[in-house]
Amino acid sequence: MRRVSILGATGSIGQNTIDLIARDPGEFDVVALTGGGNIAQLARDARRLRADVAVTAYPERLDDLRAALAGSGVAAAAGPEALVEAAARPADWVMSAIVGAAGLAPGLAALEQGATLALANKESLVCAGALVLETARAHGARLLPVDSEHSAVFQGLIGEDIDAVERIIITASGGAFRDWPLSALASATLAEASSHPNWDMGQRITIDSASMFNKALELIETKEYFGVSAEQIEVIVHPESLIHALVGFRDGALMAHVGPPDMRHAIGFALNWPERRHLPVARLDLAQISQLNFSAPDDARYPALRLARAVMARGGLSGAVFNGAKERALDAFIAGRIGFTEMAVVVEEVLTRFEANAGYMDAAMTLETVTQTDHLARTWADAAMAERAG
Ligand code: NAD
Ligand code: MG
Repeated sequence: MRRVSILGATGSIGQNTIDLIARDPGEFDVVALTGGGNIAQLARDARRLRADVAVTAYPERLDDLRAALAGSGVAAAAGPEALVEAAARPADWVMSAIVGAAGLAPGLAALEQGATLALANKESLVCAGALVLETARAHGARLLPVDSEHSAVFQGLIGEDIDAVERIIITASGGAFRDWPLSALASATLAEASSHPNWDMGQRITIDSASMFNKALELIETKEYFGVSAEQIEVIVHPESLIHALVGFRDGALMAHVGPPDMRHAIGFALNWPERRHLPVARLDLAQISQLNFSAPDDARYPALRLARAVMARGGLSGAVFNGAKERALDAFIAGRIGFTEMAVVVEEVLTRFEANAGYMDAAMTLETVTQTDHLARTWADAAMAERAG
């Protein structure tokens, strides 16, 4: 029996992970499941999978969780420390699928106990790539990418020498507004930004796909995880979302990973690694697809990509600044306080302000400095938005 925990079990990635695990009940011993405000879902899955403990991120919901788990034998806990404790419980495999920088501390705790960490939470690598990789190394833990592009690159590198890699190309669908006139973007609504043409994902990453902040985070994630230079990483718009990434080698060969837009492939790959097992994903009929399209991303439409390039060049804690400011700007867009195109403006203002206060971004990278930088970036994003509102 393999002991598994799922951080962010109630979300889109978490539910897809549970879908796979529940197909082989005899194979897995579920240790911890964590969630947010969806107590009913968390309790239902914890009962069904006979988890040892279920944790909600919200302390004020502990009584609800206890009530929902009454008589089940599943322990209940709540709050950020409880999330870290749950992640630190001995397990062989831990899915990191909390959304946002909140996933960093629990992910580190899972690595510290030596678990294989399946990393959907790209924000951990964006905010603290060096720290995450060093923690894995120091504790002999393995880190497996779950983001579809990064899983695709990882698979393209099996048996290859990283020194033979010339370039890595990650694909982007172009999101909800790929074909909109530029002038219409400023007034795009929350509902319009919350529907993705190809993927069914959580609301935050769906909006980030429309703005390309998701691809911006993934550029940084690629650099951190694979240790290649920023110049070696390209983004190509590919509306069908069937090719997830390509790896280009120095002999000119370009290896593409092709598959349906179903996260259960990347999750299942990380769950079964280093084996490949049968997975319940659709098989592509290439004759029916008949053609695939590609185009260069439009810099005017997607300023987030330019900002990510600046962050990669800057290094240090600038990833934590970028992500913290982006999360806050996204909160404000979801709350209706700023417009769609203002998100990138706010993030750029916060990056500029950090640059003018040199020192902040050059501190040594520890969980503490990353957390402080993340908080300060959010505070400065709030200040930038207050200023804009007049
Ligand atoms: P989601 O919003 O559907 O789920 C997020 C999960 O995190 C939920 O369980 C929620 O309760 C929990 N959560 C939210 N805020 C929290 C907090 N402050 N503390 C603790 N837990 C909290 O998100 P998702 O789409 O499943 O994405 C999860 C992660 O995976 C993100 O980092 C995302 O970028 C990444 N990812 C998702 C997809 C996808 O297809 N959904 C693909 C690639 C990468
Ligand atoms: Mg992705």
